[in-house]
Amino acid sequence: MAGEPGTTGLSGKSGVSDTPSTPEDTVRQHPVDESSLPKDYFAHPMKLPVSLSASFAEIRPNHFHGGIDLRVGGKVGEPVYAAAEGYVSRIKVSPWGGGKHVYITHPNGFRTVYMHLDHYAGELAQLVESYQYSHRVFAFDIDLPADSISVEKGQLIGYAGNTGSSGGPHLHYEIRFADNDQPINPFYFGLDFTDPVPPTIVNVKLYPAGPATMIDGAAQEWFQTSRRKVGKQYLTTTADSVSVAGRFYAGIYTYDVSEPSKGRNGVERVELYVDGSIHSVYSVPTYIYEETRSINAHIDYAQYLKSKEYYILSRQLPGVRYPKVVAARDSGYICFNDSALHTLEYRVFDYKGNCTKRTLSVRSLPANQTEHTSLPAVGNLEDKAMSVDFRRAFTIDSAGFRAEMKPHTLYADDNMVFRVSSRGAGFFGSRYTVYPSRHNLPPNIPYNIQLPLPKGTRIPASKFLIVALNGKKASAVATRIDGGVLCAEVKTFGTFTVAADTVAPDVKPSNFAPSAAVTAKELRLKVTDNLAGIDTYNCYLDGRWILAEYDPKNNALIIDAKRLKKGVHELKVEVSDAVGNNAQKKWTVTR
Ligand SMILES: [Zn+2]
Repeated sequence: MAGEPGTTGLSGKSGVSDTPSTPEDTVRQHPVDESSLPKDYFAHPMKLPVSLSASFAEIRPNHFHGGIDLRVGGKVGEPVYAAAEGYVSRIKVSPWGGGKHVYITHPNGFRTVYMHLDHYAGELAQLVESYQYSHRVFAFDIDLPADSISVEKGQLIGYAGNTGSSGGPHLHYEIRFADNDQPINPFYFGLDFTDPVPPTIVNVKLYPAGPATMIDGAAQEWFQTSRRKVGKQYLTTTADSVSVAGRFYAGIYTYDVSEPSKGRNGVERVELYVDGSIHSVYSVPTYIYEETRSINAHIDYAQYLKSKEYYILSRQLPGVRYPKVVAARDSGYICFNDSALHTLEYRVFDYKGNCTKRTLSVRSLPANQTEHTSLPAVGNLEDKAMSVDFRRAFTIDSAGFRAEMKPHTLYADDNMVFRVSSRGAGFFGSRYTVYPSRHNLPPNIPYNIQLPLPKGTRIPASKFLIVALNGKKASAVATRIDGGVLCAEVKTFGTFTVAADTVAPDVKPSNFAPSAAVTAKELRLKVTDNLAGIDTYNCYLDGRWILAEYDPKNNALIIDAKRLKKGVHELKVEVSDAVGNNAQKKWTVTR
């Protein structure tokens, strides 16, 4: 058995770099002082009253929500207006993320962003279409000079929609610093709305900071409100006191609604008081995109994976650069070490200052064991675990696998587990597992991996790709071949192996048939791929390229039927996946 807990047991070099980085190295952000921001410069970008379906910096998987989501009455087509004078500085059309975007740069140093638009208006619509036809693309992302398209405050720029990875029609609206694209809460700019409802506190959780901490008599996580099944019924009990021995931290699951019966939004601020004095504050008035994944370190990530509930933690890991939990004493950890009764009180605020409180009495018991300060050992002797200093670069180079992590890939020092397992059925080569065992959070920044290119098969090299395995599910990773190995930049820890995709995408009409005339407003095709994923798509009507919009959440390619004149046409569709398997189909279309 190679390797013992805490030793590397690896061939090749691993974990070596001599250049620790300081937390401030790469992080640059503007301070935000709400009182100094202009309050009537930006108008509400729609004629509807402000109705919020998501708040700024709301917790999302792997990111803070960069703006606010505004309701549009559940339907596509609500006009969207420039919030202030300026010029269109960027247009992005993407099947993913924000869908159809407009960026407007304003002379006061801020930039507003409008996402998920259904379509563009006026001069902007002409520019987008002429770009798409001249470059034969649906998706593009271009910066525009100041003299290209200027807009007045209140000028129509487009219509709200559901494009990109939107789950229903709405306008996603952001205000950023123009120079570094740092988003700020739009509510700091005087945008007004009503919210008479205080936040809801669902639950409070206490966590042991180390193996010696006892909560309610055991080395365990503890929920203030718990549900258990008694017979056929669920019983909910809320405790008002708990005993703790040793160092611990707290977490809270909370949300806000601005109108009764409407959806759950994020809260503005979470304050934790210990014996009446402030201990930690969680509040995100601004952040920077480069650090958006640090949200994972602010929440109970394991609980999120289990139940999709976001518990905001009081503790701050040392590698979290931004945002910081403001005014956190002892990095948000709590340790009493006496025999007394203490009070924890949470105060949660929404953007209108409505407040909800929750208290918990903590009976403190002296810790009878010294706490382990060293990293816990890894259980499986076959796992090779390496201790990692999160401030330094870290490399694994073993058994054909290579991973290169920059400083600050982790949020704290950790034991990196590396394991090689035999080939899985249907895959090519070994399975490589890599993850930090102490804080099993996704990486803060992406890192590069390399896997061997399979040899001795008849499958062409170009058809191989790296996949991430989650149970039996294999997800394609954007892979390139470089120096005879498969390379990818990944944003997850876990298990990686090699798969092959030799199957072309599947393309078929959804709402038209060769024999019947088209009456619908659009021609829809269903496009799917078995593994690598759709990469390029081109449609030709009577031999001429025609714009088709790709909507991956519905596996749809969509052609506006207005582009078809009355008569009989030939529609040719070419779709390629990410490893170059190409499908070509032709249909007769009658209008
Ligand atoms: Zn949004």
